[in-house]
Amino acid sequence: MSSFPVRNPRTGETDYLMPEFSSEDVAVLAKQLRAGQKLWAARSLEQRMAALKRLAEQIAAGKDELVQAVATDTGRWAESVLEVDSTIGTIQRWLRDAPSLLAPRAPLSSATPGIMVEQNLRPYPLAGIISPWNFPLLLSMIDAYPALLVGCAVMIKPSEVTPRFVPVIQRAIAEVPELASVIGFATGRGATGEAVVRQADMVCFTGSVRTGKRVGALAAECFIPCHLELGGKDAAIVCADADLDRAAKSLAWTSMVNAGQSCMSLERAYVDQHVFDEFVERLVREVSALKLNYPNIRQGQIGPVISEAQVSILKEHLADAKAKGARILTGGNVIQMGGGYWCEPTILVNTTPDMKVVSEETFGPMLPVIPFDTEEQAIELANDSIYGLSGCVFSADLDRAHRIAERLDAGGISINDAMLTGLAQEAIKQSFKSSGLGGSRMGTASLSRFYRNQAILVNQASSSVWCFLVGENENGNV
Ligand code: NAD
Repeated sequence: MSSFPVRNPRTGETDYLMPEFSSEDVAVLAKQLRAGQKLWAARSLEQRMAALKRLAEQIAAGKDELVQAVATDTGRWAESVLEVDSTIGTIQRWLRDAPSLLAPRAPLSSATPGIMVEQNLRPYPLAGIISPWNFPLLLSMIDAYPALLVGCAVMIKPSEVTPRFVPVIQRAIAEVPELASVIGFATGRGATGEAVVRQADMVCFTGSVRTGKRVGALAAECFIPCHLELGGKDAAIVCADADLDRAAKSLAWTSMVNAGQSCMSLERAYVDQHVFDEFVERLVREVSALKLNYPNIRQGQIGPVISEAQVSILKEHLADAKAKGARILTGGNVIQMGGGYWCEPTILVNTTPDMKVVSEETFGPMLPVIPFDTEEQAIELANDSIYGLSGCVFSADLDRAHRIAERLDAGGISINDAMLTGLAQEAIKQSFKSSGLGGSRMGTASLSRFYRNQAILVNQASSSVWCFLVGENENGNV
């Protein structure tokens, strides 16, 4: 098998090699996983849960090594610890919820006399999962757990930018033999992703809108369901009556954490003009206090730009904003240090809707702050985007905050904080507009992506219902 190089974002060096799965390799892996799935689906829910519980224990036991692998690929520390912790937390939440969600359904009598209806959940044998680089472990595993609980096997295609966690988690999985035959990793680049779509029975894709549309088209060609979680340009609305200190602290974090490399990063802030200057002053104070985590990965809050391809996008957004007259109140540069690139946490004002930093996904630590006159205008501005992932509203008046939230065209709206959809995984949400397509990854509805409903209908009467419904006339002649 050939291999592909992996770059370290702190040094800029390609210092690691990963196997690159060809379409033939993916086909072989798919065949093995399909064979394993038959036995896995035949196990009871309790047995599947017990296996996942053991996986959570193995991940916890090997946490340090996993954190180290993720941190090497992403160049940030605190978020890497959080990422490993939350993948364990996600398993625990599913173990708590699965028994009630997947409990066998009692048969019900149909309105048509004599017919009993039984409902079965039939897993898709092989779920394909394709994930991005920004939270490599978390986003490779988040769809795997519900799929496994339902009875699918999973074939995971992690991002080629950040795959170092794969051999580490494979060792944890190997300690749970039941799972080893139903979780497979197909490492590689875009072509490997395409091969995964071609082999799978359904696909969960997380990544950019551009690739998501290609994956959606290929899934349609293969005639399989496809669930797409794509990019965003999340907006915040800060009303005049909001607790400005709280809003500034929240937005400073949620626009800059993980160096802005989260799909649900806040990328636009619309602020009531009456409190605009006061809010901006507080926000700039908070953001200026954030430090780059160089040279020590454990000091400072802002990590490097993880993907090299992202560097030119960040530079382009900054140059475009500057050329069109934006004022940068803090930050404003992408700096090369030790071979890696860091983007300074940046607050911009005097922006216009035609600037890339206002209209396109930046995926970096930049927040344009824009004044509004009326509630109506704020909603219009926030909705003026091809994206509709999530957003947030800050107001002391909860009725008002709800009124605004319900009119925002996005799948998850936080009130008096931001990015809460990343924490409260119980919330059922779908991505609106170009931010995605398909079922909810979060909440109880998440499971239904992985099975088909099968009805078994039993006629308990003495003859076929068709005979007395349409087949016989009043003289008893057929
Ligand atoms: P990307 O679209 O470039 O790549 C995502 C994955 O798709 C990678 O594993 C890649 O190898 C694979 N891929 C590439 N071409 C493919 C093809 N033709 N067929 C199948 N697979 C293919 O995205 P990225 O740059 O890794 O991630 C950043 C993007 O992901 C951002 O837009 C971000 O907003 C988005 N994202 C969304 C969510 C969400 O839940 N909505 C979460 C995290 C990231």
